[in-house]
Amino acid sequence: MLTKSRYVIVSENTYTDPAGRRGRLVYNTATTRVSLLGTAAARQLEQVAPDDMPTALADRLRGLGLLTEQDPEQEMQSVVAAQKATADDTASRAFVLVPTSYCNMGCDYCGQTHVRGGLAPDHRRHVADRVLAAMAQPGTEQVEVRWFGGEPMMAYAVLLAMSEEFTAGSAATGTPYRATMTTNGALLTLRKMRRLYDDCAVREVCVTLDGPAEVHDAHRPLKSGQRSYARILDLLRGVVAEADAFEELSVILRVNIDVRNHGHVSELLRDLKDAGMDHRMVQLDLHGVYAWSNDVSDVRLGREELARQEVEWIQEILGLGMNHAVLPRARAGKICPAVTRSQEVISSTGSVFSCTEHPLVDRHEREDALSPVVMLPTPRLRPAGQFDDWHERLSSSSVPCSGCVFLPVCGGSCPKHWSESDPPCPPFKSNIQARMDLVAVLNNLRPVADEAQSAAGGGARSGGA
Ligand code: SF4
Ligand code: SF4
Repeated sequence: MLTKSRYVIVSENTYTDPAGRRGRLVYNTATTRVSLLGTAAARQLEQVAPDDMPTALADRLRGLGLLTEQDPEQEMQSVVAAQKATADDTASRAFVLVPTSYCNMGCDYCGQTHVRGGLAPDHRRHVADRVLAAMAQPGTEQVEVRWFGGEPMMAYAVLLAMSEEFTAGSAATGTPYRATMTTNGALLTLRKMRRLYDDCAVREVCVTLDGPAEVHDAHRPLKSGQRSYARILDLLRGVVAEADAFEELSVILRVNIDVRNHGHVSELLRDLKDAGMDHRMVQLDLHGVYAWSNDVSDVRLGREELARQEVEWIQEILGLGMNHAVLPRARAGKICPAVTRSQEVISSTGSVFSCTEHPLVDRHEREDALSPVVMLPTPRLRPAGQFDDWHERLSSSSVPCSGCVFLPVCGGSCPKHWSESDPPCPPFKSNIQARMDLVAVLNNLRPVADEAQSAAGGGARSGGA
């Protein structure tokens, strides 16, 4: 028996295409496909039992994945099973490495405690051996190192030395290797960026800018008292100007937003455009400031307010020719290291964790370390962590995500925040209808003010977004 898929979202608005045909957008989170349905077909999808639909329409909706033979429980179990299979796959290994406990910035919304110091030499040897052993292990298809902080560029020399071992290990074993880096950008120069790209296989760099100059420098103050905004923007300008030399590099520009800087995001976006960030290698990433095991309630922007403004910012980003996803277009896989033993986090303190929010946070360093790295036999996967049963929890419907229409593309977002009763739902859960309006505009569709005017009729037409 056919039923409507539980993973279908129909736009509230009706749109008209350049030929004057009217329809509504349908986003299927299970296939990540967006279709334009004629208004009559959309109404039938919403209101009519599949068995009572004309056969031709039912067949077309089934072809688009909007009708399914699975009942809602089976559909959810299929989605969770696919996500679990991805998480259980150890052919692709990732190591989140924190090479230093120090950060040269003192952002007050950060939950980490930063002290000078880094991996002790014996810890460092064990960390490198774990990465190299993963490369050499039969069945490993790729290895990724994610340099993370503290501020990883505070340990630039360590990073270069370890990367040399990793690239040599990759050459010796034939296992593809790449690295990413999350950095505040203040210590990054174009020369260092070239070295990271050419010698250390860094293929993605995530840099944070929290506003235009004055706002960023106040929101992300350097402990030295100096300013970083102009320097970071110069660096980014240089990277984009040399894009041909960084052919495989992705640059993620992250903006952490709270009550203090949300009014300045538009100004930042215009600065970024003027600096040439309307380039295919650059992707904008907007985030609300949230609790990282710390209390940010004084500055956190309300969820609904963030979701409302986010759509306006995305619209501005696209209008300026820069890049930001409108709808999630990939199914969730390994949502984070905490749900897969193929990934692990190794702190500069020498402790192995499963969650990236545990290192350098006093309570978690004390209570949630899975093992000292020196005690972990190199070929073994990390020990089980607190959230490795995430897919069992989804499967048994013991978390709200099991019943959520976004489960296929979201995967639950963050098990840690669910465990702290702080739902980590991305803003798209709240602003999906406004995002569909954006998709419509990008596809040359105009919203129709009054759906009642629209003529009935039209079948299913699939559309791009
Ligand atoms: S549980 Fe949350 S904080 Fe921890 S690694 Fe996953 S997404 Fe990050
Ligand atoms: S985190 Fe929120 S949006 Fe994501 S699947 Fe869970 S309930 Fe849905």
